[in-house]
Amino acid sequence: MTNIHLATVLNKFNVAPNIICLKVLKPREFIFCPGQFARLGLNVDHQKTDLLTWRAQSIANNPQDNFLEFLIILEDGGAFSELLKLTASGNGVHLDERSYGFFTLDRFLLQGDLWLLATGTGIAPFLSIISEKKVWHNFQSVNLLHSVRDNSQIIYTEKIFSIFRDPSLKNYVSNFNYVPFTTRCSESTEGILAGKTTTFDLTRSHFIDILESSWIKENLKLDLSIEKSKIMLCGNPNMVKETRKYLQLKGFAISRKDKPGQIAVESFW
Ligand SMILES: Cc1cc2nc3c(=O)[nH]c(=O)nc-3n(C[C@H](O)[C@H](O)[C@H](O)COP(=O)(O)OP(=O)(O)OC[C@H]3O[C@@H](n4cnc5c(N)ncnc54)[C@H](O)[C@@H]3O)c2cc1C
Repeated sequence: MTNIHLATVLNKFNVAPNIICLKVLKPREFIFCPGQFARLGLNVDHQKTDLLTWRAQSIANNPQDNFLEFLIILEDGGAFSELLKLTASGNGVHLDERSYGFFTLDRFLLQGDLWLLATGTGIAPFLSIISEKKVWHNFQSVNLLHSVRDNSQIIYTEKIFSIFRDPSLKNYVSNFNYVPFTTRCSESTEGILAGKTTTFDLTRSHFIDILESSWIKENLKLDLSIEKSKIMLCGNPNMVKETRKYLQLKGFAISRKDKPGQIAVESFW
């Protein structure tokens, strides 16, 4: 039995028309590793513990912060989504005091190129992962590829860009590629190429198209390789399944603590 804590909502705001950023006060005893998720419980009366609707939500911030930050989809008619719409700053959110999940870097050998492939809110655990200095110290390159429906869904760009305001990370910025791209519209996107702000024209694309083409080699000047790449896939289960299958056919393997490989996956539904 784990304890349930009533965590105060510090802030709640839209980062996209259908995505909420929720910040709650972190209980002192809540410990997590970047990549893990929390279980949040909501009901109509924020104080009561009965009739709670529980959902897994990946944590999007650094473990040292005194708050927990979540990026949560508002899915019309979804039980949790509808309750979240009724939740405001100052309310309580029920929080299971344990953190969960194995979608963390400790299942990999920390070397080579790190590939973080997300759809939509699947970027949340990656924001936490790249907030940790050890990522920058250990990997030769960090490549965050974010697939979204259209430009309104490109979220947290400012936070991503701000990592390098930390003077101790300044030297690592040239190891970073951040490639947001759209699946359903033809607008270009703002991202980062080798540490420099740039515009990408990867429109109406999917991960498989990108992996199968020479786009990565030509633009990022990198290769996905069994020797060097560590690849994390997060978000839409179809993307996770398809991409994982594609990679496994190329010889990449799921990484386990006792048998390090190249792939880690997290499906959101
Ligand atoms: C390990 C894990 C971590 C998760 N982390 C996050 C997170 O960081 N942010 C987040 O928004 N959700 C996350 N989810 C999904 C989350 O648990 C809920 O499903 C989501 O909040 C919607 O809840 P709901 O009750 O409104 O709808 P549900 O009844 O849970 O789902 C209804 C439908 O909504 C769609 N859906 C669910 N989640 C998403 C999503 N994230 N993006 C697009 N469509 C979705 C699916 O079609 C699903 O069938 C995570 C799930 C798992 C298993």
